Amino acid sequence: MSGLQVEGLFTAALGLAEPWKVEKVELNTAKSRIDFEVVNTARRLSCPACGVVDQAIHERVRRSWRHLDFFQFEAWLHASVPRVNCTACGKTSQVPVPWAREGSGFTLLFEALAISLCQGLAVRQAAQMLRVSDKQLWRRIGHYVEQARARQDMSKVRLIGVDETSVRRGQHYITVVHDLDAKRLLFATAGHDHETVERFAQDLQAHGGQREHIEHVCMDMSAAYALGVQQSLPKAQISYDRYHVVALANQAMDEVRRAEWRHDAQEVQQALGPLEAGERRKLLWAMRRNPDGWSGAQTRAMHWLQRANLKSTRAWRLKMGLRQVYGQARLHNDVEQTTTDLRRWISWARRSRLEPFKRLGTTLSSHFDAVVRGMFEHRSNAFVEALNGLLQQAKRAARGFRNAATFIAIAYLRMGKLTHLPTSPFVPAAARDARLLVRAR
Ligand SMILES: [Zn+2]
Repeated sequence: MSGLQVEGLFTAALGLAEPWKVEKVELNTAKSRIDFEVVNTARRLSCPACGVVDQAIHERVRRSWRHLDFFQFEAWLHASVPRVNCTACGKTSQVPVPWAREGSGFTLLFEALAISLCQGLAVRQAAQMLRVSDKQLWRRIGHYVEQARARQDMSKVRLIGVDETSVRRGQHYITVVHDLDAKRLLFATAGHDHETVERFAQDLQAHGGQREHIEHVCMDMSAAYALGVQQSLPKAQISYDRYHVVALANQAMDEVRRAEWRHDAQEVQQALGPLEAGERRKLLWAMRRNPDGWSGAQTRAMHWLQRANLKSTRAWRLKMGLRQVYGQARLHNDVEQTTTDLRRWISWARRSRLEPFKRLGTTLSSHFDAVVRGMFEHRSNAFVEALNGLLQQAKRAARGFRNAATFIAIAYLRMGKLTHLPTSPFVPAAARDARLLVRAR
């Protein structure tokens, strides 16, 4: 095959059209590298600034772009990009290249691959795989997420979930707002005060949504969010979801157990006598878990806890009792029955002589209607829980580079269901390549 044919082949493989073509291909097997010299053969060009045709080329600027590997070869494009001196508008401007965004040192296809890798891999891992720096990927994620989010449609949003998470354990809180119908992350912002809800409402309106159209908000019992909803989402009804209420019951139970094991160590020792220290520690997780998820060792440990006459035993029964109210509500789907069940549970908690449960009883009682409503939001309950898992994964994906901005960007990338992101160049789709090239022009 003659040299000329090879260049023609690569011109086609890179999707180049007149006046661009590959002039030289250099394969360096020792360095596992392939370099393409691309030229613009036009003598005169249209002005990129004002569009007036037939302008003189003032100078050419050397530029290089990293491209998708060709098998084991790291591929690079190089070109002397013309700058046009325009007689009409007087500006000197560089012509855009069809294979890359302005200012990027990666080709569009390389960026598309990078973005799609970051949806499944930790960013650091994707960077290693692509042999680029973390920072280079974070910059692209930021760019494409912002671009795609700008075109996101929120006009149909009616049911939302508001939740908080932290960038690091217990610090730098982020408020996240999910579309519970479309199961996507709508909005994330630093902070967890009532103003975060107003920031969401404004973002919603900027994306074609209406704050008056939000009918329902599922959330935890934070007073700040309740105030935010009251101020910024005038038609929304609040409900408290299962995930957060059961989490409160687990916290109350842990509090009782910790205090008892610390202050009444002897009673605990006596009641759980047959259990060794290692087996006793198994209770910590078994108590939080559903009985059908217990391991053999946990079942044995729980056998002794259930026979004991400990505060921890009562606390565990109360927690299970509340779970049961939720389970029953799902089965019979009867608001009246659930109202009775929850009242009964609250009075049980209040008579329990366990301070954390007495407090929880009071909390649930003062938010009674919203708690009951939450029991019948079946759509959201399972989903709120699943979303929390995805947020944790997003956090891990930002490891080594994690701050509020990177965490929010990667969360949007993975959970936003953004429809205007570049797609992987390895998913065959003729329309996709055309779109990528068109957008660059
Ligand atoms: Zn011009």
